[in-house]
Amino acid sequence: MNVYDSARMADVLAPLGYRAVDRPDDADMVILNTCHIREKAAEKVYSDLGRLRPLKAAKRARGGDMILAVAGCVAQAEGGEIVRRAPYVDVVFGPQTYHRLPEMVARAARANGASVLDTDFPVEPKFDHLPAPAAAAGGPTAFLTVQEGCDRFCAFCVVPYTRGAEYSRSAASVLAEARQLVRAGAREITLLGQNVNAFHGAAPNGAGDGGGSWGLGRLIRALAEIDGLARIRYTTSHPSDMDEELIAAHGEVPACMPHLHLPVQSGSDRVLAAMNRRHRVDDYRRMVARLRAARPDIALSSDFIVGFPGETDADFEATLRLVDEIGFAQAYSFRYSPRPGTPAALLPGQVETPVAAARLAALQSLLQAQQTAFNRAAKGRVMPVLFERRGRPRGQLMGRSPYLQAVHVAAPAARLGAISAVEITGCTRNGLKGRLVAGAERAAARATLPAGAPS
Ligand code: SAH
Ligand code: SF4
Repeated sequence: MNVYDSARMADVLAPLGYRAVDRPDDADMVILNTCHIREKAAEKVYSDLGRLRPLKAAKRARGGDMILAVAGCVAQAEGGEIVRRAPYVDVVFGPQTYHRLPEMVARAARANGASVLDTDFPVEPKFDHLPAPAAAAGGPTAFLTVQEGCDRFCAFCVVPYTRGAEYSRSAASVLAEARQLVRAGAREITLLGQNVNAFHGAAPNGAGDGGGSWGLGRLIRALAEIDGLARIRYTTSHPSDMDEELIAAHGEVPACMPHLHLPVQSGSDRVLAAMNRRHRVDDYRRMVARLRAARPDIALSSDFIVGFPGETDADFEATLRLVDEIGFAQAYSFRYSPRPGTPAALLPGQVETPVAAARLAALQSLLQAQQTAFNRAAKGRVMPVLFERRGRPRGQLMGRSPYLQAVHVAAPAARLGAISAVEITGCTRNGLKGRLVAGAERAAARATLPAGAPS
């Protein structure tokens, strides 16, 4: 979501004459868009600011200036502290106020060195004030925020405090932005939200199914009607917010990709309860079974936290057993990081670092083995691959399989943005290698491709 937010900040600043550059050295403004989810991400802000300070000084010595800004969730949570620890920062603003950037930049110019701080949760949602995404920024894949914030208050998580209460955009504004992205060249859109499947946006014209609001499944069906939009993904989902309509969309909407990031965090009911996740391990198992019934080839990914306060060896082994049982195509796993202001930070039974580190290593080795096995199983198959960007060696493109695997293929740059049939010839640690399937071969292979695949 920070990638999406950064692009929108660039859109807001474009009318003032700013454009994105590759290096901070000579920039007129540098914005650090920050993450507060774990301590390591938050601490990075101060080391990055330390590196930017001399660049700002050098630019001033040359008679220019560099506006230094800190945005995002660290700014939201620690705005005052940033100003104290790094008084040379000009602007500090949270995730809900970046539509006011032009005004903040003007205030900073008048502030005579004092920092401008804006960490409000404004009543007017920023989406009503943002310009349409710039056509120039278009690529084959795009992000689109449909939902923000969260009301679930998992005991470890800062999101409800930094991003604020749950908010869904209207279906009409999402559809309009999606059409704009497709006009700018997007063939795949990933819908974003901290709890994206809690989406309940106002239905177009305020009427329609669901008492005037649409759930994510209904939204995906409407998006799939947009000409030229071949793939739809969404992230991140809470297991308890997967409803019937959304599960059905996986089975019935060809553009809805067979990959789902569905974090479970732990395989122990005791730990899930302490985390305030509000579902049990069995609920997760049942949900996976329903998803697989709707779309048998769906690939699952997940998030895990190890070393949550009170987690015992037995709890952790239950997590390993669940991983074994479900089989994940990919996953992220983290050592629990106590976050200021969250209930879990105050819990007794904080797990010692070496114990948590050993559990993390064991879990990651199991997850990596599953990912490797999943990738190996693709060898010999023909898959539709959407080419997103040029690969490292010249003449190579990087694309994605329906299951979100990175696929490296020797292909002409003209294929960027196209969905092509690719035979998987091998795999690397985190991805696949393949070759374009041509001519008659391609026609023969078409029979093996899922409906709605390459055109
Ligand atoms: N909304 C999603 C998760 C968003 S945060 C959900 O409900 O699952 C992304 C991931 O960061 C989480 O799934 C969790 O695994 C991890 N995370 C969040 N807070 C954390 C903390 N305090 N310590 C370690 N990992 C954390
Ligand atoms: Fe955080 Fe996700 Fe829980 Fe919301 S549902 S509090 S975003 S972990």
